Amino acid sequence: MPAKRNATRAVKIGNITIGDHNPIAVQSMCATPTTDIAATLQQLKSLENAGADIIRIAADNKRDAAALVQLRDETDAVISVDLQENYRLAEILAPHVDKIRYNPGHLYHHERKKPWKEKVEFLVDVATKYDCAMRIGVNGGSTDPEKASLYDKDDAITPMVESALEHSYWLDELGYERYCVSLKESDPTKTVEAYLRFAEARPEIPLHLGVTEAGIPPMGIEKTRIAFEQLIGKGIGDTIRVSLTLPYDRKHEEIAAGRQILDDISAGRVRTVVHFNEDKLNLISCPSCSRVENEAFIDLAHQVQKRTAWAEEHAITIAVMGCRVNGPGETDDADLGLWCGPNYVNLKRQGEKVGAFKYDEILDKLDSELRVLVAAK
Ligand code: SF4
Repeated sequence: MPAKRNATRAVKIGNITIGDHNPIAVQSMCATPTTDIAATLQQLKSLENAGADIIRIAADNKRDAAALVQLRDETDAVISVDLQENYRLAEILAPHVDKIRYNPGHLYHHERKKPWKEKVEFLVDVATKYDCAMRIGVNGGSTDPEKASLYDKDDAITPMVESALEHSYWLDELGYERYCVSLKESDPTKTVEAYLRFAEARPEIPLHLGVTEAGIPPMGIEKTRIAFEQLIGKGIGDTIRVSLTLPYDRKHEEIAAGRQILDDISAGRVRTVVHFNEDKLNLISCPSCSRVENEAFIDLAHQVQKRTAWAEEHAITIAVMGCRVNGPGETDDADLGLWCGPNYVNLKRQGEKVGAFKYDEILDKLDSELRVLVAAK
């Protein structure tokens, strides 16, 4: 049986409460373009029907914000807005949502001359005024560059933990306690370490668990399960998301996967071998969001899985990302990285750009690069 959960503080998000021994909330995120109101509403409803406790929607610009305001009128779901780099959209959206997620790494890029503390103060002011909860969402692929520059470049975890701690202390100083924290990495082992270190330093803060870019089922579910078993088994975790690369009409499977993992942990159905197999091919792919510029990305990620299956026994990491904004950074540590634009897919080999290829060319190019890497091993 898992350990008794940590006594984190209660955080109210709309009509649900996480922390303080409340049931672990299961959440997901709409992957459709937010401005496509019909498609986003359909996905939102399907996530709601699947039993999502919280549904996140991204807003990158004022058009997204206007669409989200319209969507709010169509649903009673508990909605979290994912602020990308434009943190000022919070002012428009806070009256219409239950929670605001910001990424300290993304906050860095907008209005660079402004100190980050002022930006967070702005977010706290609007969240307080409009009765919103918040999440400090730190991500291994987009850690605050200033924080990352202070540590060894091979150390992905310390900058994540330090960034989350620094933001938590600042929220506390501002007198705002209605927040949770996430520290997601695409590697389940690193994810576990980041959460353990943060939970040791700040055991009272509720945690949103997730393995970022876990990829395609079943591997994406397995990676996530490995991390959740170790964390929830130690009493850590108040809300979860399983991030899977799935077509729009299957996005709701993230909720079923999350509930199944929670059920298995609670029934003691956990594995004894907990390390992700690092001696095999590792495919990382993002769960997609409204930033995807070509829906073909999702199909491409699934094609990459099939096309590279021959190399299963080789310890090579391939990352497939859905956009040009986060793709370049999130593929930095992969042996082969792909990120998708509207018409071209960019390919990187061990950090060096190889070129941009059409969607119908990229699989052949990837395959030949993979064969070179395998032959060199
Ligand atoms: S890589 Fe881009 S498309 Fe994929 S989830 Fe991240 S922001 Fe969204």
